[in-house]
Amino acid sequence: MANNGAMTPAQNLREKLPFPLKRLADLAYNYWWSWTDNRITLFKSIDPQAWEQCGHNPVAILESTSYERLTQLATDPLYLKQLQSLVADFDTYMAQQDTWVSKVAPQISKDAPIAYFCAEFGIHESLPVYSGGLGILAGDHLKSASDLGVPLVGVGLLYRQGYFRQRLNRGGWQEEVYLDNPFHQMPLELLKNQHGEPLTIELEIRQRVVKVQIWRVNVGRVSLYLLDTDRHDNDPIDRWLTGHLYGGNQETRIAQEVVLGIGGVRALKAVGIAPSIHHLNEGHAAFCTLEVAKQKIEQTGKSFYDVEAEVRQTCVFTTHTPVPAGHDVFSPDLMDSYFAHYWSGLGLSREQFLALGARRLGDPWEPFGMTVLALRMCRAANGVSQLHGEVSRKMWTVMYPERPENKVPIGYITNGVHAPTWTAPLLSDLYAQYLGADWKTRAIDPAMWEKVDQIPNEELWWRHQVLKERLIAHTRYKVTKAREQRGEDGDRIHAAKTLLDPHVLTIGFARRFSPYKRGDLILRDAERALKIFGNSDRPVQIVFAGKAHPADEEGKRIIQRLMEWCRHSAIQKRVALIEDYDIYTGQKLVQGVDVWLNNPRRPLEASGTSGQKVCFNGGINCSVLDGWWCEGYKTGADGKGINGWAIGEDAHTSDQEVQDRIDSQSLYKLLEEEIVPLYYNQDANGVPHGWIAMMKASIKTNAPLFNTDRMIADYVTQVYAPGCSQISTPSLAQVIA
Ligand SMILES: *Cc1c(COP(=O)(O)O)cnc(C)c1O
Repeated sequence: MANNGAMTPAQNLREKLPFPLKRLADLAYNYWWSWTDNRITLFKSIDPQAWEQCGHNPVAILESTSYERLTQLATDPLYLKQLQSLVADFDTYMAQQDTWVSKVAPQISKDAPIAYFCAEFGIHESLPVYSGGLGILAGDHLKSASDLGVPLVGVGLLYRQGYFRQRLNRGGWQEEVYLDNPFHQMPLELLKNQHGEPLTIELEIRQRVVKVQIWRVNVGRVSLYLLDTDRHDNDPIDRWLTGHLYGGNQETRIAQEVVLGIGGVRALKAVGIAPSIHHLNEGHAAFCTLEVAKQKIEQTGKSFYDVEAEVRQTCVFTTHTPVPAGHDVFSPDLMDSYFAHYWSGLGLSREQFLALGARRLGDPWEPFGMTVLALRMCRAANGVSQLHGEVSRKMWTVMYPERPENKVPIGYITNGVHAPTWTAPLLSDLYAQYLGADWKTRAIDPAMWEKVDQIPNEELWWRHQVLKERLIAHTRYKVTKAREQRGEDGDRIHAAKTLLDPHVLTIGFARRFSPYKRGDLILRDAERALKIFGNSDRPVQIVFAGKAHPADEEGKRIIQRLMEWCRHSAIQKRVALIEDYDIYTGQKLVQGVDVWLNNPRRPLEASGTSGQKVCFNGGINCSVLDGWWCEGYKTGADGKGINGWAIGEDAHTSDQEVQDRIDSQSLYKLLEEEIVPLYYNQDANGVPHGWIAMMKASIKTNAPLFNTDRMIADYVTQVYAPGCSQISTPSLAQVIA
């Protein structure tokens, strides 16, 4: 819906800028800027301190900068030149017609785009409506869809307080802090109707009408629509429906999923978008299939069972959870209180309706499963790595009693990462020189990545070392601030200024502190760990980051143990934990470490993506053979890894204690016998040529596979396009073939 006559926020901002800077407003309202190599200086150089304070929010910085400073920039020819060149790139990008998808799958039309539903989107740290892997993946999905020209829109929720912010108290215990997002000072546009009032849709939730308003975020050529119930005309309780991401109880959860799934379909209709495909990224959005059916029933007067096949043609599903307990289920009671008014609209009885979410038909106590609903109502389903595909087929055989396990209709498309977002600009610049100025648009080309061999070792090494220094500086800054906030002693605060050393082998470990991820595995044998970290000739250092879910006491205890290690007198300079892990800290970490450590209990990591980000920056993975690393890890003739290390080899037991011991000992052995010696084998100038050979192998073997351009290409050719073409009759089997 156009804002007939009324000004958009971008136009408003443009009005306030001196004329040579006006186009900054367009950049501020499109996150495209965040994956350009220019991202470091563009907004930050306006006022570095204010940039930090506003959380790297381009709209807030432009709104708050003094007119005097703006006119200073407007008269600075260097700044203007940079801005002009960036604006030219932006205009070219936005206008591009001969995109990848226009050649490969022209049947996916802009008039009937793909609608991609997800409970969280991690686009940039200034839009904190994500918690972790799922959200970052969704953000990267939108960015690559934009780059490849895939007609796609995102649908999600705009959380007033997002996920919690993490603070650790003096006892090392995690405390959760909730901050309001200042929506009106963010790169968001509240959509308006022809009367200039917010465009809304209505939902019936708990016997009340809830009005939902819609915000748009521009992600390159892709629009992301975020739904928000925080309106004055809603009941105070309903205003908080979109208050927190993954907060609250089952009631909040089901209500949020109604807003996302049913509200999402209604919102698209209100905006004038008729999607050809609904992509449910994880089960949270599965109610959308019901609303698609409802609209078809209303249009045609047909029965649910008559439109069911048509609905299935337009819906596809990606599952992300390798454990049964991780899948959302709702009790029949809860379903009654949220859907009693709804199933009659589908022409279904209560039993028929509840059967849609029951793994086994005819069991009245069977809870309503969102994954079950999604599998029933979607024509294609996939896991997010080869191993996860297998695990998912096994887990869901119960729904397909007539099929053998290998014919369960769940395929896989392995996750990737958006290369331009996660590659450090300093390395991107090197790739531009050696792989070609267009390297970012050819990320899926293995022949291009082979040219990494032509980069002189010294050149790759100094850039990597500087990025490591950048990580260390960031760590010191964050740790200093945290210690000040906790009111620690002056000595402790001062000590943070000399934390870590750029010449020391640096390991990174950042992820959710869920017990299955075993965040403190490397410290399991204290004596052996102390010898490794505290070695005076060849020391090792490690940087941790990550949040524990507010209800996860065991996860919080892991963080607390790590905080104790940070204070251990023998190695306090070698162990650091950065609070409040977010996309920004994530970038510093994956761009600056030598080794990325990942040691989950197999097979609980569906894919994992942080290790993939590391590869684009020359970091090397040391990981359990789980998720994507099963596909990424490559061995040479001697059976040893050529592009990284595998923890625990092939020994698997169901006894967790035993498995933890096996895996930690394997990790120590790798560090002592392979990783540390390889790193410290340096020439007279301190350049470790053997190590750099492995860095290059890590880049060459992984980069062409584990990027979201390859992933989107797989989704387009295997999942989206078959449903958009007139001729083919897509079947679930197509995806697993
Ligand atoms: C990449 C990323 C994740 C996901 O990493 P995993 O390897 O899947 O655990 C989570 N949080 C942030 C901030 C990230 O950048």
